[in-house]
Amino acid sequence: MGNLEDTIAAISTGTGGAVSIIRISGSDSLAIGNSIWHGALKLSPRNRRKAILGKCTSRNPLFSEQAIAIFYQAPHSYTGDDVVEIQCHGGALVTRKVLEIALMAGARQAAPGEFTFRAFMNGKLDLTQAEAVCDIISAQSSMALNLAERQAAGILGRNVHEIRSLLVNVLSECESRMDFGEENLDWQSPKKLISTIDKASEGISALLKYRTEGAVLREGVRVVIAGKPNVGKSSLLNLLLGYDRAIVTSLPGTTRDTVEELASIRNIPVRLIDTAGIREADNIIENKGIERSLASIKQAQIILWLLDVSANPTAEIKTLNEHASGKENVIAVWNKTDLLAKSAKLPATGIETVKISIEERSGIDELMDHIEKMIWGYPHASEPETAVSSRHAALLVEALEAVPGAVEKIRSQEWELASVNLRAAISALGRITGEDASPDILDEIFSRFCIGK
Ligand code: GDP
Repeated sequence: MGNLEDTIAAISTGTGGAVSIIRISGSDSLAIGNSIWHGALKLSPRNRRKAILGKCTSRNPLFSEQAIAIFYQAPHSYTGDDVVEIQCHGGALVTRKVLEIALMAGARQAAPGEFTFRAFMNGKLDLTQAEAVCDIISAQSSMALNLAERQAAGILGRNVHEIRSLLVNVLSECESRMDFGEENLDWQSPKKLISTIDKASEGISALLKYRTEGAVLREGVRVVIAGKPNVGKSSLLNLLLGYDRAIVTSLPGTTRDTVEELASIRNIPVRLIDTAGIREADNIIENKGIERSLASIKQAQIILWLLDVSANPTAEIKTLNEHASGKENVIAVWNKTDLLAKSAKLPATGIETVKISIEERSGIDELMDHIEKMIWGYPHASEPETAVSSRHAALLVEALEAVPGAVEKIRSQEWELASVNLRAAISALGRITGEDASPDILDEIFSRFCIGK
C-alpha cells in the first residue's frame, strides 16, 4: 500500500449511476479541492461538512462542470485524513475528467482499498471492520448483509480483542515471573492463570462455531438440481429463482448445458445449478451436457435429486442410487405429486426425502426447510451473531493450538516456555484485528478491495 503522506484521489462510485463521487484524502485535499472547485463558499474548516454547490473547472483542458463539494476535517472523515468529496454528474467521461484535474492539481491516484487502508492506519477501523466494508459491498443476501453490518460495527473485532487481552494479562504475569521470580511479589497462582487461559480458549472456540456461517454467507452454497430428463429440474430452478430463467418443455433432454444463477433461499446466498437430465443419450451434445452435470454434482454442496412420481418409480430410484448413494448431501425430491393417486405409495429412497408439486406449489416450504437444515447442519431459527471468514478461522485455530502448550508450561512453572506459547496465540489473534498484522498481510487484504473504497 502506498505511503500515508500523499494526498490520494479516486472515483468512489460505480459506473452507470446518475451521480458520481470523487474522493480526495490527505493533508493537501483542501488546497486541491479549492484549486479545482469554486462555489458560493470556499471549502474551509469553517464550512466543514457543508454540501456546497459550485463548479469544477480547469483551463487546460478546458472543462467546467457543476458539482457539489463537501469538506470533512480530520479526524472526522471516513479515512481520518482531511477529505474533500466532489459530487458531479455520473457520466463516465465527466467523472474521469474531474478525477483527472484532481490528479493534475497534485493528488495521486488511490490504489484499491487505499481509503479504507488509511482509515485502518488512522485507527478509525480495526482489520475485521475494514474487511466488513468489502463484505457489505459484496453481500448477496440480507442475512449476509446484516452480519457484515454487525462486523463493521466492530462486534467480531471487540470479541477477539477481549480474548487477546486475557492472554496478554497472563503473558505479562509470566514475563514478570521470568524477570522477578526470586522476589516474593503478589503473584497470581498458576491455577488462576490457567483459568484465565481457559476462558480465552472458550471464547475462541465459541467464535470458531461461526465458521460455517462465514463460509456460507461469503461464498454462498452450490445447490445442484439433478435427476433424469423431464422430472421438473428447470421448473424447480425457475420456481426457486422467482422468474423464468430456464426453458421448460415437456420434451425430455431440452436442457443441454448447466444453467447457473444466484438466488437467496431463506436469506442464504445460493448458487443454483440446473443440470442436463441424466440418461443414456446417443446425441453428442446431450452427452456433453450429461458429462457437465456429473461434474457439477461432484462439486455440489447440496444436491436436490428430483424424481418423477408419474414415471417408473423403480427406474427413478435406480438412477438416484447410481449417483447419490453414499453421499450425505443429497435430498431426494419426488415431484409432480399432483399426478399421484391419493392411495399410491412411493418406494423408500433411503435418504432425506421431500414430496413436492411444482405445478401446485406444494411442499416447497418443506423443501426449503430441508435445504436450510442441510446448510447449517443444525436448526437455525435466528440469525447467527457473527460470521468468521476462513482467514479469521485459520488464525483462531492457530491461537487455539498454542494454548495447551502454555497451560502445560504454566503448570510446570516454566515461565519462559509458557510465554513463547502465549505470544504465538496473541500474535495470531492480533493478526485478526490488525493489532499484529504485518505489511504483507495488510497488502493482501486491502488489494482485494475495489478502487475508490
Ligand atoms: P427437466 O427436463 O427436468 O428440466 O423438466 P422441466 O422443468 O422442463 O419439466 C418437464 C415437464 O414437466 C414440463 O412439461 C413441466 O411443465 C412438467 N412439470 C414440472 N413440474 C411439474 C409438476 O409438479 N406437476 C406436473 N403435473 N407437471 C410438472
